[in-house]
Amino acid sequence: MRIQGTAFPPRSSVRYEAELDVSQANFLSLRVDGDIISCQKQDVEISVPVGNLPIRFAFPDGWVFVVERSAEVSAWLKRNSKSGFVDKIESNVMAWLVAVVVCLGVVLGGYFYALPWVSEKVAQSLPDSVSVSLGNKILETFDNNWQASELPLEQQQAIRQRVTQHLQQLDPLPYPVEIIFRSSDIGANAFALPGGKVILLDQLVELAANEQQLDSIILHEIGHVHHRHMMEKLVHSSILSVGVALLTGESSGIVDNLAGVGVFFLSNGHSRQAESEADHFAKQAMVKIYGSSEPMAEMFELFQQQDSLDVPEWLNSHPDFEQRIQAARD
Ligand SMILES: [Zn+2]
Repeated sequence: MRIQGTAFPPRSSVRYEAELDVSQANFLSLRVDGDIISCQKQDVEISVPVGNLPIRFAFPDGWVFVVERSAEVSAWLKRNSKSGFVDKIESNVMAWLVAVVVCLGVVLGGYFYALPWVSEKVAQSLPDSVSVSLGNKILETFDNNWQASELPLEQQQAIRQRVTQHLQQLDPLPYPVEIIFRSSDIGANAFALPGGKVILLDQLVELAANEQQLDSIILHEIGHVHHRHMMEKLVHSSILSVGVALLTGESSGIVDNLAGVGVFFLSNGHSRQAESEADHFAKQAMVKIYGSSEPMAEMFELFQQQDSLDVPEWLNSHPDFEQRIQAARD
């Protein structure tokens, strides 16, 4: 069998029409420019076939013969077992599908399992000063829209003192908790910032029918502090933005945007899992402090009865609403 192609002399890009004779068992002969270059097949370097790319035969003396991929060439390559691994995979749809599924699995697994795990570890190993100053930055941003609290100072003081007493009955927290009062037209709500600041809006304090009900929400927020949920989320989104920055080459503003990201997360609430962890913490604490977690369920119901479009942070995962009230009661 003879194959028509193009040949290039050693260290030259001059092209010659050429013919490769592949009919002998162990020899390849290249007819080019009136010459015949013959050598052992094993001494000729044949490129690995990939898709429809041309095949390259490099002869030991430097001549290179290039041939387009044709059925004839493919058949010869196959007989001479030069059909490469990539070629085999390419022709195998199943293998491609498996490869795609494996890639997806790695990406999704990384996103849903590895990333949260890494975020938790990083959040726990960051120095407290980072969390505290980040919390201050986020509060500054919020304060552009929030007003000073109108609660009487004595009432603020009484709530702070009560929380201090409660904390003495609980396990030590990663940061000292500081209760901060603000007023806002977003309605009854409370937030835990990274670094231990817990913000109570006047509207929440007014909504609570008694101390126990209010404390259940404060304890829920302290649950977020206990689990460092805010820092985890911030680290999580930082890793994502660094990832995006690496992919897109756009790296400015990663650090600048962190406070903004924090505001976004607080406004949009925590994940369902974070909420149930905070609920669980609050429930245990309520039972320890007051002997019952019923006020927590009552507080959830109070909010449910409110005619408000603003979903408070502590009731963010709406579909679980009834379930969470039930869990507080069980
Ligand atoms: Zn919450």
